[in-house]
Amino acid sequence: MKKRLFTPGPTPVPEQVMLRMAEPLIHHRSPEFREVMARVNANLRYLFQTSQPVVTLACSGTGGMESTCVSLFSPGDTVIAVNGGKFGERWAQMVRAFGLNEVEIRVPWGEAPREEQLLQALRSHPQARAVYLTQSETSTGTLTDVKTMARLVHEHSSALVCVDGVSSIGALEMRFDEWGIDACVTGSQKGLMIPPGLAFVALSPRAIEAVARSSMPRFYFDLRRALKSQAADDTPWTPAITLIIGADAALAMIRQEGIENIWARHESLASALRAGLRAVGLRLFSQAPTASVTAVVLPAGVAWADFNRALKADNGITVAGGQGDFAGKIFRISHLGYYDALDMIACMAAVERALAAVGYGFVAGAGVRAVHEAMMQQNNGIATIKHS
Ligand SMILES: *Cc1c(COP(=O)(O)O)cnc(C)c1O
Repeated sequence: MKKRLFTPGPTPVPEQVMLRMAEPLIHHRSPEFREVMARVNANLRYLFQTSQPVVTLACSGTGGMESTCVSLFSPGDTVIAVNGGKFGERWAQMVRAFGLNEVEIRVPWGEAPREEQLLQALRSHPQARAVYLTQSETSTGTLTDVKTMARLVHEHSSALVCVDGVSSIGALEMRFDEWGIDACVTGSQKGLMIPPGLAFVALSPRAIEAVARSSMPRFYFDLRRALKSQAADDTPWTPAITLIIGADAALAMIRQEGIENIWARHESLASALRAGLRAVGLRLFSQAPTASVTAVVLPAGVAWADFNRALKADNGITVAGGQGDFAGKIFRISHLGYYDALDMIACMAAVERALAAVGYGFVAGAGVRAVHEAMMQQNNGIATIKHS
């Protein structure tokens, strides 16, 4: 059976990326590798829309998050973290684990933080050194308006704006320089279309100053070392050579498609899929849906295990279940990375087949038709991935 991955990490890897990674290994202290690294460094700046350095680390996204925690602060510093899902919660736990004074903005799952909550936290904690935001909260499929939040942080404080962009970079609009973001992290297995194992961290001049001042104990994830090597298109330790070569191929595709076209494609896929889900009577979980992953409420009487089995065993489709308190209550479909309009139709068809298999009542074909019609109406070609 043909298998199709619709999970918000890992995401499908394009064939041309896999082929590049299958080539014989090269040594990392060599002119060939340095050329690759130079291209990757330049294209990462394009990806984040920044003129600032973006460092590449050999770890998953969480390691990238950890590098900011240990490199930007000193023990006892106050950091505000928005916690509205599994990943916001992870930031908050991490900040505490490193002995920082964590101030939490609690947001119900499926909702975005409100401006007033942020302002209140900034007023009550004027000493805060940073605000951590999750642009796309993958566990709930919720978007945070980081552009507005970053503006408010800068208007009302001198705190750094640190963004978890793991399920949004390469999918949703991010203008690192223009929006005044200070640190933004992503991982390889999401919008970047490569297997897991790399994290990327963009840093503003203010963040780089903070890295120089930080007195936190650190070694492997020391961004001072990473920045120094990055400036010479090098890495402090043995890099994940194969994955970086994969990133080179994937970033070339991203360049070719154009970052704004990529953002538009994700919007377009998300809105078409939502139309299909609504057409079969399903409800979205999030009040502020992100365009990289759609969280759907499992209808009453549909058991997650049965639905998932029908999707996977009978249709070869892997989606993600709910996390935390929402395990068994929601499921999540990714359209993050290498997806086009026909993928959404295939996924919707499989969701319909699985719903039918578990005895959920709906008009057969209504979802597929709605996805297809939404894509046809948009009719602007952006839901097709164009590259040579
Ligand atoms: C996937 C993800 C992460 C990082 O997870 P890793 O498993 O460490 O790669 C962090 N934040 C968000 C929002 C994510 O979706």
